[in-house]
Amino acid sequence: MTDSEGPEIPVVCEGCGTRTAVPFDEVEDAVARHNEQLHDGDPVAEVDPDVLEELADRFARDSGLLE
Ligand SMILES: [Zn+2]
Repeated sequence: MTDSEGPEIPVVCEGCGTRTAVPFDEVEDAVARHNEQLHDGDPVAEVDPDVLEELADRFARDSGLLE
């Protein structure tokens, strides 16, 4: 599979002890859904903080969204 739509983002959940790779454009949804279904809406699962930081950084630079 070389034709993916983007990077896969690691989502970690300490509550479940899981680490899952989710396509970039689904990651927000996946995290929200996971927390709703398994943790009563508590923000337990999250994008790996290291990766999130790097992505945010790169995204801001690439898209020129910094104002
Ligand atoms: Zn969980």
